[in-house]
Amino acid sequence: MNRALIFDIEGTTTSLAFVKETLFPYAEAHLDAFLDTHGERPDVAAVLREVRRFGAAQQRVETPPAAEAPTPGGATPSTQPLDTAPSPDPAEPPSDSAASAAEAPRGAPSDAAAPRDAGAADEGEGEAASLDPRALLKAWMAADVKVTPLKTLQGLIWEAGYASGELRGHLYDEVAPVVRSLCERGYRLAIFSSGSVAAQRLLFGHSVAGDLTPYIEAYFDTRTGAKGEAVSYKAIARALGLPPASCAFFSDIASELRGADAAGMRSAQLVRPGTTPAPGQTHLSDFQALNAWVSAHFA
Ligand SMILES: [Mg+2]
Repeated sequence: MNRALIFDIEGTTTSLAFVKETLFPYAEAHLDAFLDTHGERPDVAAVLREVRRFGAAQQRVETPPAAEAPTPGGATPSTQPLDTAPSPDPAEPPSDSAASAAEAPRGAPSDAAAPRDAGAADEGEGEAASLDPRALLKAWMAADVKVTPLKTLQGLIWEAGYASGELRGHLYDEVAPVVRSLCERGYRLAIFSSGSVAAQRLLFGHSVAGDLTPYIEAYFDTRTGAKGEAVSYKAIARALGLPPASCAFFSDIASELRGADAAGMRSAQLVRPGTTPAPGQTHLSDFQALNAWVSAHFA
């Protein structure tokens, strides 16, 4: 069979609370211990250097200085969890120029503001060295400022948490059996979430139902495009080597479903408790209903 089913994560396979109430607090709570243990690791040390550079760049463009919260009247600090962001995740724009500068809260550091080249940042090197990366990271976490070195470090902390078994990716109870069954029936399965592909793989690789990665063929994040844009879904279909009409997308968010519809995909809305049913969409209460819909309408 050459049909693909593409799933959103938050509100679709996984509770909205998992990211907000488990993942982000976990990274915050384990920051000090993680840096105490792994601060000398080359990849971690590189991230900390990047944190200092971002902090120094922020100080140069901003008064009050770096550790202050973003301007309350500025762009809204994003509390968007992994995959409900209406636009590309500012920390992972397709190209790290205007997008991050536009999306980050006013006064927040951004990829665009950060010196790219250490050699060109002599002016900032001295002040960067004097900055406490832990304080910067904590301030950014508290203000939910999405900058690349923070996101990278959060990913490393989650990776360690998943590896130790302390973190498990949440899935609604009925998701894993249906995923296995759909895969066994020949459907090609993929994920499209604004959480990074690395975070998606960790979630499904260390889920409450075990390792589901053998069932999932492909992962897409906002590097492919915004979740409300038809071009993103066209790109996903192309990457899967299928016409859009051979793909179906499932999400809790109406604008995302409209993006998939506009690309020519089939779509249906997962209406979990707390989700508002969107007019004009097919509503599915859970993955058992999804399974039945697929059998009836997308066989
Ligand atoms: Mg969602």
